[in-house]
Amino acid sequence: MNKRDYYEILGVDKNASDADIKSAFRKLAKKYHPDVSKEENAAEKFKEAQEAYAVLSDPEKRKQYDQFGHNAFNNNGSGFSGFEGFDFGNMSDIFEDLFGGMGFSRSSGRSRNANGPRKGNDVLYNMTISFEEAVYGTEKDIKIEVEENCTNCHGKGGFNSKTCQECHGSGTITQEQRTLFGSFLSKTTCPYCHGTGSTYEKTCDECHGKGKVVNRKTITVTIPAGIDSENRLRVPEKGGAGINGGPNGDLYIEFIVKEHNFYKRVEDDVYIELPLTITEAVLGSKKEVPTLYGNVELTIPAGTQNGEKMRLRGKGIENVNSKRKGDMYIITKIIIPEKLSREQKKLFEELSYTDLENSKYFKSYKNCIK
Ligand SMILES: [Zn+2]
Ligand SMILES: [Zn+2]
Repeated sequence: MNKRDYYEILGVDKNASDADIKSAFRKLAKKYHPDVSKEENAAEKFKEAQEAYAVLSDPEKRKQYDQFGHNAFNNNGSGFSGFEGFDFGNMSDIFEDLFGGMGFSRSSGRSRNANGPRKGNDVLYNMTISFEEAVYGTEKDIKIEVEENCTNCHGKGGFNSKTCQECHGSGTITQEQRTLFGSFLSKTTCPYCHGTGSTYEKTCDECHGKGKVVNRKTITVTIPAGIDSENRLRVPEKGGAGINGGPNGDLYIEFIVKEHNFYKRVEDDVYIELPLTITEAVLGSKKEVPTLYGNVELTIPAGTQNGEKMRLRGKGIENVNSKRKGDMYIITKIIIPEKLSREQKKLFEELSYTDLENSKYFKSYKNCIK
C-alpha cells in the first residue's frame, strides 16, 4: 500500500516548526473529526492526519521519519507498526480546545475544591460616558444584574442535606468513555450533586436548587478623572456572589468615551483648532482660547501661518494613574472669507496690487518653476 507523505497530509513543508505542525493538524482535526465532520471519507482522512501528527509532533519519531520515511516504522520491530501503537497523549489538549474536552477529562482536579470557599464570578459592564465626564471624573449610578446567594436557602439550594446517592458522597463519578482512540476511564464531577457529595431532600423553590438568584442592583461608581476609552475600572467585590463563603467577584467597568466635537484627545493631550481671520493671522492678535480649565488669552504673532501648532503646557487631561496633566495643542486654522462686502472686496483688490509674495515659500516655489 502506498502511504502518503506525512508532511503532505498535513500540508506543511519539511522545515515546518512544531507550532506549524500543531496548527495544521488542528485545522484538519476540526475539518475531519468524524463526530462533527460532514466531509466525505472524514474518518479515513482524520485517521491519516492523526497518524501524521503523532509522528511529526514527536521529535524522535520525526527524525526517524525524515531519515527513513515510512520504512522507519514498518520494518524495524520497534513495536511501532501501524496505527495502534501511537500515543495520543499529546493530542488531548488539541481536542480539548476543539471539542470542549470530548473524551478527555481533566476535571478530576477541580472537584477537590468543590466544597471549599471560592471567589464569585467577575462581571464586566460597558459604560459610555461623555468627554467631559472622562476629563473631570464623575459619579454614576449603574444598574447591574448580580448573582447573589439565595436568602431563602442561604445559598445552599435546598433543605435537609443527605449523602448523594450517585457518587456516595465522593463528589466524583468514574465514567467509561468510548472514543475513536479506544476507551478511557475518566473521573468527572458528579452531575447530581455538582461535586459537593450531598443533595437535599427538598429543593429550594426560590432558586430552583441553584443556591443563587439574579438580582438587579443599583450601585454608585466613582469614575476618576482621566478615564479613556477601553480603560477598565475595577470595583472590588461588586461582582457575582462568592461560593461557599468565598469573597464576591469583582465588577469591571469598561469605558467608551464619546468624542467631543471641538476637543480632540490623543492620550493625555488635547487638541483644538483655532479659527483665525486673515487679518488676525497677518497682523497678529490676541485670542481667547477655551482650555479644559477655563479661558486663556493667547497672543497670535504677526505672520502666523495656517496649521501652526502652539502648546499650552499642563492644560491637557490628567493621567488617570500618574495624575499628571498632559498638554493642550492649539492648531491655527486661517479662514478665508467666502463672502465679501463691496468695501472688503475693494480693500482686497487694493491689496492685490501690492507685493504679497515676499516670503520664503514663494521664493522656493519660483525657483522651482523657472
Ligand atoms: Zn434558594
Ligand atoms: Zn454526587
